Amino acid sequence: MPHSVIRADIQKMTAYQVADLPSDFIKLDAMEVPYQYPEHLQQALAQQLAAAPINRYPNPHTSGLQAALRQAFAMPDTAQIVLGNGSDELIQLLTLLVAQPQATVLSVEPAFVMYRHNAALLGLNYVGVPLREDFTLDTAAMLQAIETHNPALIYLAYPNNPTGVPFARADVEQIIQAAQGIVVIDEAYGAFSDDSFLPQAGQPENMVVLRTLSKIGFAGLRLGYAVGHANIMNELAKITPPYNMNQLSLSAGKFALQHMDWIDEKIAILKQERDKMTAELNSLPETHVFPSQANFITVRLPQAETAFNLLKENKILVKKLHGSHALLENCLRLTLGTPEQNQQVLRVLQQHSDNIQ
Ligand code: PMP
Repeated sequence: MPHSVIRADIQKMTAYQVADLPSDFIKLDAMEVPYQYPEHLQQALAQQLAAAPINRYPNPHTSGLQAALRQAFAMPDTAQIVLGNGSDELIQLLTLLVAQPQATVLSVEPAFVMYRHNAALLGLNYVGVPLREDFTLDTAAMLQAIETHNPALIYLAYPNNPTGVPFARADVEQIIQAAQGIVVIDEAYGAFSDDSFLPQAGQPENMVVLRTLSKIGFAGLRLGYAVGHANIMNELAKITPPYNMNQLSLSAGKFALQHMDWIDEKIAILKQERDKMTAELNSLPETHVFPSQANFITVRLPQAETAFNLLKENKILVKKLHGSHALLENCLRLTLGTPEQNQQVLRVLQQHSDNIQ
């Protein structure tokens, strides 16, 4: 194996962790929707997929997916859409778009890890401006960092992952105004939030909105999309690998968006669960839930490590944030599950509240 030809920094990296879980586990670590697609829709989808022309290369423009996205979600008519194999692929391509010597990518800390990872992979400087202790934006520090580093690319997840806390819209607007480079508003969790930049995507020209179907029920399809001004989207399209979207995902995504009732119903349930879990967990001694606008909640409790292990012993997997960043001390991130699953989380934490205080 010619290891010597592989970049030393890549050899030192660890691969993105995906849990191999026994099927009886409750999986609340990756912000998936906990509901299986219902039987009647599964069958109709199967019929549609059976007719998909899989002998041909896919054509995203004629697939109908972009039209279905415009129909389902409000965005400017003039904005253009670029599809990605998950929004992860689009994060990589957007970073590639600005990857030249000395260019800087700016985000907050803690943020979605792939912003930093892609910047490092493509040889860019990365600056992460720490959030405040309550996970709100330190706008003055962001504006200062923009002035100092003149970033080519800024990522702001709205709402943020791994914290779930929304940023003030006026602060984000100030950052967009101040930036000379591209500002990506990553709305992976936008469907669960009271506010969105999608209706203004591409206005101003440097603002791109990134979205995904992963968090609204279709993580397995790997369908992300960037919406923005033609001047940026045309450049992004040039570096998108040919046929990056597969025919089956394009068909299934279009089908899913034509059946928004199921999606809207599940989003509504998960938002109710968010309120319920926030109240219930906040009532445990010394436990604090950060106000979330996403389909997960970030919780601080005195013994996060013990709580994580207790949940795991009870076959519930959540995300341990503790240890990943100073601001995330004693924090766990819980994806919202079905009401029954969430009840089980509460039962474990309530039963053992003596051990985790
Ligand atoms: N952006 C954010 C903020 C995320 O949390 C995630 C997934 N964890 C993604 C993008 C990537 O999502 P996907 O590739 O499934 O569209």
